[in-house]
Amino acid sequence: MAVNGDFTIFAGELLFREDDRFVFGNVLDGPLLDCLKTSRFRALTTEIRAGVRRCAENCSFYSDCGSFYISQKHAETGSFDADETLACRLEIKTLFRSLDEASAAPTPSDHHAAVRKPSETCSVDESGLTLGP
Ligand code: SF4
Repeated sequence: MAVNGDFTIFAGELLFREDDRFVFGNVLDGPLLDCLKTSRFRALTTEIRAGVRRCAENCSFYSDCGSFYISQKHAETGSFDADETLACRLEIKTLFRSLDEASAAPTPSDHHAAVRKPSETCSVDESGLTLGP
């Protein structure tokens, strides 16, 4: 919501664009939910849902992200009917890839097990430590 009472839906930063296309109403003008009945809301929702569908069909991180970067889609492509943006490639996808790699990497306990392994193949006899096979 802006200081004058104008509000938007979907992403707050949409309020601070050059045009008022994303202003859905003003809190001083009456019931807020009336904006859900406007053609502006329906048109934008249709466009956004098309972009969400694109993400669901094309992005392997959709189940984690859920087509999160709505406003960035519009900033980069001029439409909400879009999937990958530079911002989501650099931020969301990089983050989730890093998390996937980190979860696949050996844990500290795996590391200790690996460090212990050589000693498990060692034996001590009268002549001293013998490294196994
Ligand atoms: S990471 Fe990008 S392309 Fe994938 S679901 Fe999110 S916004 Fe869509």
